[in-house]
Amino acid sequence: LSVWSAVPAGPPDPILGVTEAFRADTNPLKINLGVGAYRDGSGKPYILPSVAAAEAAFVGQADKEYLPITGLASFTSAAAKLAYGADSAPLKQGALAVTQSISGTGALRIGGAFLARFYPSSKTIYLPTPSWGNHTPIFRDSGLDVKQYRYFDKRTVGLDWAGMLDDIRAAPKGSIILLHACAHNPTGVDPTRAQWAELSHVLKEGNLFPFFDMAYQGFASGDIDADAFAPRHFVQQGHQIALCQSFAKNMGLYGERVGLFSLTTSSPEEKARVDSQLKILIRPLYSNPPVHGARIASAILNDPGLYKQWEGEVKGMADRIISMRTALYNLLTNTHHTPGDWSHIKSQIGMFSFTGLTQPQTEALAAKRSVYMTKDGRISMAGLNEGNIEYFAESVDGAVK
Ligand code: PLP
Repeated sequence: LSVWSAVPAGPPDPILGVTEAFRADTNPLKINLGVGAYRDGSGKPYILPSVAAAEAAFVGQADKEYLPITGLASFTSAAAKLAYGADSAPLKQGALAVTQSISGTGALRIGGAFLARFYPSSKTIYLPTPSWGNHTPIFRDSGLDVKQYRYFDKRTVGLDWAGMLDDIRAAPKGSIILLHACAHNPTGVDPTRAQWAELSHVLKEGNLFPFFDMAYQGFASGDIDADAFAPRHFVQQGHQIALCQSFAKNMGLYGERVGLFSLTTSSPEEKARVDSQLKILIRPLYSNPPVHGARIASAILNDPGLYKQWEGEVKGMADRIISMRTALYNLLTNTHHTPGDWSHIKSQIGMFSFTGLTQPQTEALAAKRSVYMTKDGRISMAGLNEGNIEYFAESVDGAVK
C-alpha cells in the first residue's frame, strides 16, 4: 500500500482546464478565450519591444546572485511610484512598506498572510461576487476567513451598486474589503470615480480596511495614472491601504513573476517594523524573489526613453482590446441582429467581458464551434482579432438564437 493511497483526486483548475480542452481540439477554426493573457492582432503571444530592448541590454552580463528578501530596490521603488504616483504622501514620507513578490498572486498571498498575522481588527476578508477564482483559495490558505459582498447584477450585466453598498455597510467594523483597483476580473465592470469616492467614505465609516488588487494597471484605459485612480484616491482620503501589483499583463511578463506588495504606514519608524516582519514572513516561504523579470521591469521604469516606449505599448494593447469590443458589439447588434442588448461588451473594461452567455450556451459553443471560454460566460477580449472575430460573432449568434 502506498503512503498516498488515501489522497483524493481534486478538481481541475477551472480556467487552465479550458486551455487543455482547447489544445486537444483539432478544428483549425478553434478559438481560446479562456486564459487572461494578451494576444496580438494575429493571435500570438506578444513580447513588448520595450521588454525585449530592456532584456537585451543585460542578458549574458548580469550576474545570477541572490536578491535581498524584499527584492530589487531599483524595481520596488519605481514600481511603488508607478502605483501611488510620484507625489504620494506615504512615498515622500518614507512610510511605504514594499516588497517584491512572485507576481500578483504572490503579493496577494504575502498580504493575506501579513494581515492574518498582524491586522488587529479582524481576520475576515470580503470579496466581490464574483471575483477572480484564485482569490478565495489564496486568502483561505493565508489564514483569513473569506466572505462575500454583492458586486455584479446579472439582470443589468452591470454593477450591483446598491447591493455592494449594503453588504459593505453590513460588514462588521474593522473587516478587510478586497477591491479590484481597475478592470475587475471576471466581469469587466468597475465602479465610477464618484462611486469610488463614496466607497472611500463607506469604508471609513465602518473602519474597514481596503485591500487593493491591481493586476491590470494600464490595461483598463491605456493610461497608467487613470487606472490607479482608486488606490490613490483612498490614500489621499487618509486610508491606510494594502496594494498588490502585477507586471504580468501590463509588461507581458506573465512567466517572469514580477509583482509588488505594499502597505502604507504612518511613519518611517513604523515602516521599518513592518518591513522587518515582511522579511520574517517571506524568508521561510521562498527566501528571496526571482531576479530576471525584476531587472527588466526596473530598466523600463527607470529609463525615461524605455518608459515612454512602454507607455505607448500598454496603450496599444488596451486600444486593440477596446477596438475588439466595438467590433464585436457591431457584429452582434448590426450584422447578425443577435437577440438581446450587447452594449455591456462596449462598456466593460479591461481584458475580460462577462458576455451573459449561459453555461449550456458556453458548452454548446465549445462542442459545436470549438469556441472555448470559462463556464460563467467570461471571454478574454484579447483572444479576439480580425482573423477570428467574425467566426466568433457568428458562433455566439447561433448559440443565442
Ligand atoms: N489578480 C487578478 C484579479 C488577476 O486577474 C490576476 C491574474 O489573472 C492576478 C491577480 C495575478 O496574476 P499574476 O500572479 O500572474 O500576476
